Order: sequence, then C-alpha cells, then structure tokens
Amino acid sequence: MALRQDENKPNRRFSIINLVLIGFGVLLLFSNFLPNPANQVPRVPYSLFIDQVNDGNVKRAFITQDQIRYELSNAPEGSPSVLATTPIFDMELPQRLEQKGVEFAAAPPKRPSFFTTLLSWVVPPLIFIVVLQFFARRSMGGGGAQGALSFTKSKARVYVPDEESRVTFADVAGVDEAKAELSEIVDFLKTPERYVEIGARIPKGVLLVGPPGTGKTLLAKAVAGESGVPFFIISGSEFVELFVGAGAARVRDLFEQAKQKAPCIIFIDELDAIGKSRGGSMGVVGGNDEREQTLNQLLTEMDGFTSKDKPVIVVGATNQPETLDAALLRPGRFDRQVLVDRPDLSGRKTILEIYADKVKLAPGVDLDKIAQATSGFAGADLANLVNEAALLAARVMRTSVEQGDLNEAIERVVAGLEKRSRVLQDDEKRVVAYHEVGHAIVGHLMPGGAKVAKISIVPRGMSALGYTLQLPQEERFLNSKEDLEGQIATLLGGRSAEEVVFGEITTGAANDLQRATDIAEQMVGTYGMSDTLGPLAYDKQGGSRFLGNGGNPRRVVSDATAVAIDREVRSLVDRAHERALAILKGNRGLLEDIAAKILEKEVIEGDELKHLLSSSVMPEDAAFTEPVPVPA
Ligand code: ADP
Ligand code: MG
Ligand code: ZN
Repeated sequence: MALRQDENKPNRRFSIINLVLIGFGVLLLFSNFLPNPANQVPRVPYSLFIDQVNDGNVKRAFITQDQIRYELSNAPEGSPSVLATTPIFDMELPQRLEQKGVEFAAAPPKRPSFFTTLLSWVVPPLIFIVVLQFFARRSMGGGGAQGALSFTKSKARVYVPDEESRVTFADVAGVDEAKAELSEIVDFLKTPERYVEIGARIPKGVLLVGPPGTGKTLLAKAVAGESGVPFFIISGSEFVELFVGAGAARVRDLFEQAKQKAPCIIFIDELDAIGKSRGGSMGVVGGNDEREQTLNQLLTEMDGFTSKDKPVIVVGATNQPETLDAALLRPGRFDRQVLVDRPDLSGRKTILEIYADKVKLAPGVDLDKIAQATSGFAGADLANLVNEAALLAARVMRTSVEQGDLNEAIERVVAGLEKRSRVLQDDEKRVVAYHEVGHAIVGHLMPGGAKVAKISIVPRGMSALGYTLQLPQEERFLNSKEDLEGQIATLLGGRSAEEVVFGEITTGAANDLQRATDIAEQMVGTYGMSDTLGPLAYDKQGGSRFLGNGGNPRRVVSDATAVAIDREVRSLVDRAHERALAILKGNRGLLEDIAAKILEKEVIEGDELKHLLSSSVMPEDAAFTEPVPVPA
C-alpha cells in the first residue's frame, strides 16, 4: 500500500505542470491574434507607393522588415494620410527616396521578445515531460485505466471457481499419478499450518510436463477447483511483448497481485515461451533480451516470496521440458515435476466414459472397443472423438450415438476429414492402390500384433492419398527388435509394391520413408538394438520425447562410430526393404487381386479384408536373415 500513497506526489506535480503548460499554450496562441496597431493602417500596392514617391507626394517613410509605413505630404480630402505597403526586394529604394527628399528611417533588426524566447525554449520540453508522465501514469495502472498502453500490467485472468463451472479431479481421468501428486498440493493450500508446524517446506513450483492435449491445463484448473483458492491463469507467451522490460514488469505485477490474494495459485501455461534455456539461442541476431529479462524476473519473484502460512504456488505447464532453462528447475523453483502422459487403455476408457456421459449414447455401445482402437490418443483427442461421433449422428437425424459413429470418428480424428472431392487421375489411383495393398500385405505378415483393419484409397486430410489402418490388438508398452523391423518393412511395403509392379517409384512414399528411417535410427541410437554397436545410447535422451523430431542430438562420438551408426541404420532399412520386396514378389497374385478389388470399391475392411489377407504366404527369403552388407 505504501507504493500507492507515494503516487499522490507526482500526481500533484503533474497537475501544476499541466496548468502552467495550458497557460503558456493559451498565451502563445493569442499572441498571434493580438491586435497589432500596424494593421490598422490601410495597405496599398508597392507600385502605388513608388508612384507617390516619384510624384514627390511622400513626406517620410519608416521601413521595417515586413512593411513600409509612409506619410503623404498632401493626402486627398477624406482619405488617410498614413499608408503602408509590403516591401519588395528593391536595392534602389534608398536612392530613390533620397532623390525625392523623403525623410526615411529603418527599424533596428527585430529582436525576439523575451516572451517569445521563453515560449520557444520552455514549452517543448514541458510538453515532452507531460506526455511522458501521462504514459507512465497510465501504464502503472495507478488510476486503473486499462488503456492500450498498459503494457507493464500483467494480463493474468483470475479464475474464480464457482460451483457450476468448477473443475475437479473427477473431471480428469487417465492421469492417476499426476492426480496423486497434485492432491498433495491441494492439501498444502487447504491446510498449510499442518506442514509449517512440522517444519516442512511447501513447494513453490510444480511443473506439469506432457504432450499437448493430455489435460495439463485441465489438471491445474482442477487443483484450483479442489482447493478453493484464487487461481491466476496466464500463458507464457502473454508476457513477451515488443518492448524490452515489459515482460519483467508483468511478472512483477502478477506476483504483486498474487501476494495480496494468497493463498493462491499462479498457473503459467506454455512456460517454455519464457523459460527457454538462456544459452540455447546463441546464433540469434539481437539476442533474446526480452525473454531473458522476463525469465530472470520470474526467478527472482519465485525466490522472493517466503510467506509460510500464505503460500503462493506456481504451477507451470510445458510440452518441451527439455528446452527449459536449468535455473527454473532448481530447488525452490519448479522443483516438482509431474508427468502428464497419454492415457493407457483403462485411462482412455475412463476418459471416454466422462465424455460419453455428456452425449446420448445408444444402448449397447462398447466403449472398451473404442478405447482399444485409440492407442496413442491424448485426452483432448478422445474428447474430440466423442464430439465428432455426436456430430455424425446428428447429421443423419439420429437421436443417439452409435458404435459406428464412434468408429468413423476415430478415423476422422486419425486421418483428417474425408475428402471425396479430391479426384485422383486413374493412373495415380492405380499407384495409390498398389502402394496401400503393399503396406497391408507386408503388415499382415510381419510380427508385432498390429492387424491391418482397413485399406482405403479415398484421399483424406491434407496429404494422405490413401491409407492403411493398422490397429494394435492389445495394449503394448514394449516392442521387440523384430516388431520394430517389421514396422520398418511395413512402412516400406508401399514403395516396394510400386517397385515390384511399376518398376519405378513416386513421391508418395516420402512420409513412409521418414518414419521408417526414424524407427531405424531409434533402434540403433536409443534402444541399443544393434549387434555391432552394442547396447549404447548414441542419442542424447530428451530431444524428441514429446514432440517428435526436435533435432535429434547425438552424443559426442568418434568419426568411426558415427560412420558405423550411419551404416547400421542404413543396413536396417535396406534389410527391411529387401524383405518387403521378397514378400510382395512372393504374393504377386494376391497383390494384383486386392489392388483390383480396391480400385473398384475404394475401401476394403473387416472380414473381407481378413479373408483376403489370410491367403498370403511368407516367402522363405523374407524370414529374418543376416544383415545385408552395405557398400561403404
Ligand atoms: P494440455 O493443456 O495438456 O495441452 P488441456 O488441458 O488443454 O491439454 O486439454 C484440452 C481438453 O481436452 C480439456 O479441456 C479436456 O476437455 C480434454 N482432456 C484432456 N485430457 C483430459 C483428461 N485426462 N481427462 C479428461 N479430459 C481431458
Ligand atoms: Mg494447455
Ligand atoms: Zn505409404
């Protein structure tokens, strides 16, 4: 509060300066319009003045810079004897006047009056000061004005959980470990005394870490809902502004507000927007002063508050924990990290149940099946899936959601919306058909438990021209080396089919190759599955846990090892390619049959597909063999 009282003084000075300024301004304005006696003298053209001089009619003249005033010797009756004219540049004027015996004088060079000097020297700086003060006052938020320039004010929204929209732990499913950890935080906030009495230090920061859409924001809201304390919510990106220093000021403001409302929670979503490692961006021209300052301020603030019985707990969320500055993760800051991962089978079922409760479900819908088919979906995807299913049902005027709607919704979420409008040329369609059937046949024969459930050559989403849907039969957490090799072969099956049938390859396999190479690289670098290179992790862990290829940093290895890794990756992919080719050559007849069928029907699935694929045979030479030597 002391701060607020001090503000009164600048306030009074402000108004005095203001008054003085207005006074000066008014004077300045009017000084131009003040009646000037010279203006009362009638003005005549210069030529008339010269005529009158030549006629000897001018008695005396008074010449200044901007006018010549003269008196006539004998003015006509009734007209003024004193006239004025505007001088023009005329060097002969003095001579002429002298010749005619006119008495003349000039005014001394005009000196600016003291008053004008004062105005021109004092007013501009005054305006400057007043404008500055005006903005400063606005942005301090002293008067509560929330103008466009209030850039140092935190944009945090206070989320006050009311009874209806209150989020509780019951609304979050499938992340039980995270819930258990966070209920401890709720306990801290509800009864801090208990912890203080025993001498325990209440954690200041909790970092929720996990892929997008797994419910981090939801969990943080649930913590607020459960503990019933005020909840400030702000996104990391909202701190960062054009102006250097604005972010830091916002952090200060946020903590200032929070301290007044303690006990409370500050939730900083997308923490990585400000918390990126400070050393990490050396190459960036101009540096990252703003972000760094904001981060430093955040660290200072988190160190600063120590009130024991009025805790302010900072909850952060990020899906890129590896980019965070190490200083953020030190004890006393975000020292608790809670993993919020994608839900497993039972977790997916519970999440589906939560959202299925909100729509009308037809009797007999089996959510277990849906949960099984959605391995890898995050909570947000599942919520989206149920909603899509409800939309589908509503579109065909049904009053409840059926199993089929949910199944179709899975495909929608997986592969993007159906786009029948995209027309493929006939020859393109043939390529896509063989390509997809190639995936299906190889996938069917490979180990790994993923069964091929559907082949489609209906273009979907942004880039897929066709797709082969593989559903895992059971929840799997571990993959054997054979499984992974099978996955690579399956991914290469599409391209291999093109090679076998057309003898040439198209650009359609780019994404398959990308994924196949990624798997092979992980096998060698991360899982230590290479015989020649041994059980070493050549990749530095962390780089690509959540968001895929976040630049795959390799451990420092000797040149020879680097070459060996490259050769090993290459040989894994080559071997899988050989196997895919062998399988497709061995099942050439089946490949043609299924391709013909899919060209006709566009989609094959279910029992029909199962039946067709069951007649595939594993050729001898495609069984697991010794590595194919790669030319160096
Ligand atoms: P994140 O912050 O991790 O990216 P959100 O919390 O914003 O994800 O999740 C988005 C939405 O997805 C939530 O509002 C909720 O509707 C749904 N959702 C995500 N995860 C879960 C979950 N574990 N349980 C229930 N709903 C979830
Ligand atoms: Mg979020
Ligand atoms: Zn493909």
